[in-house]
Amino acid sequence: MSLRVGIPVVVALTAGPCVSGGVDLGGVTVSLEAYHGPASVTAEIEAPFRLRLAVHPAEEKGALAIRVALPKTGPRAWPAEDVEVRDSRGEAMMVRRAGIEWSTLVIPVPATAAAYVVQAVGPAPKRAPGPPDSARVIMDDATGLRLGIARWYDGRKAALSIRFDDSHPTHLTAAAPILREYGFRGTFMVNPGAAEPGSRRRSNFAERASEWAALAQQGDHELANHTAHHRGAKGDEEMEAEIGDAARAIWAMTPGKSKLMALNLGGGTFWETTRTLRYYLDKYHQFDASGNSTGMDDSYGDRVGNFRRMLEQHVERGLWLRVHYHYIGEGLSSSEANFRAALDVAKAHRSALWVAGMADIHKYQTGRDSARLTLLGSSATRLEFRIAPQTDHELYDHPLTLEMTRAGALDATRVAVKDAGGQAVPVRAGDGAGDAVLRFDVAPRESAYSIEIKP
Ligand SMILES: [Zn+2]
Repeated sequence: MSLRVGIPVVVALTAGPCVSGGVDLGGVTVSLEAYHGPASVTAEIEAPFRLRLAVHPAEEKGALAIRVALPKTGPRAWPAEDVEVRDSRGEAMMVRRAGIEWSTLVIPVPATAAAYVVQAVGPAPKRAPGPPDSARVIMDDATGLRLGIARWYDGRKAALSIRFDDSHPTHLTAAAPILREYGFRGTFMVNPGAAEPGSRRRSNFAERASEWAALAQQGDHELANHTAHHRGAKGDEEMEAEIGDAARAIWAMTPGKSKLMALNLGGGTFWETTRTLRYYLDKYHQFDASGNSTGMDDSYGDRVGNFRRMLEQHVERGLWLRVHYHYIGEGLSSSEANFRAALDVAKAHRSALWVAGMADIHKYQTGRDSARLTLLGSSATRLEFRIAPQTDHELYDHPLTLEMTRAGALDATRVAVKDAGGQAVPVRAGDGAGDAVLRFDVAPRESAYSIEIKP
């Protein structure tokens, strides 16, 4: 199928809505960016996650830019992190994207008749779903035990991450200490690059570098990558430096810790690169945490009420709620009173909620979703099993929680869990509805364990 898009000729050969001169292509929309001249672009889906574009300049002499918006959710969603664009000679093209909108590509092209390919590349297994939920449950008749990997750490029903952007001084003076009062872990997205000559932007981070280092050392909060300077990048080299320099600065403050961290490219920034985002994520052990977060600035209105509603929905559905703040204090993005009021809501849901850093939650989720539980053997009083996560345990180092239940009573003092080396693993009683629940944590690496039930 082939589609002619643009002005004056728009021929839609598939069903689907036209969006501002663009045409629907399996959820993809293609158009010429801010253009009202004679040139046009045609688009065709050649294979899954492979789109062919052809430019027809007609009388046009000036430069053009093709805008491609990929579907972000649902069954037709593209893996935007893996997408690149190549010309007809196979050369990677420079593509511009907004920091928090990686699925929308703007591709500058000359006004010449030429073809381009937009495609997802890289190892497909990375994009494949892990084993199904049923692979993480053992139902054993001999012991009567049901053993499973908890959806979230410690068997909590939902996860909450609280993010702070732009290394603002009020993060050190207000956000971090107030979170500490509540026992909550925050995720601080910092811009650790030094002030640049000619830039009007002060480096809030450099002015308080020793305080940030102290916060990192204390370890009860998490630092994350908001890029070195919060200004985007023109070209591969700059993008490499903006992500790489910030990652290295954070690693230097957290020696010996997992190098995995959240990356947020920043609102209002534009990034030009020939490479996939995956290239940068993999090279610097980052995961993309740019989008899918709720802003908590007071200017959005009724933040506390909205937060309460969202939190209740996420607890009900067992999901990860991500919220983010900018500056905390009177006359700033969020007043201290509103900040505290939201934390009070989270505190009221504490037993159902895992409040954690974004990297912790990502590690748990990825490790769990990749893992299988296998029954190795069982008798009336003993069960042996293996857990096998597929993640790199040096990066994905957050423990996984296993839960066991059995019809009727299950007394923690009568259950002994041992690792493969015979070391006892502490077991704790949980508050399951109805049947008793026992929980224990294991390292996120392939290993065997035994469970003994004393009569
Ligand atoms: Zn920002």
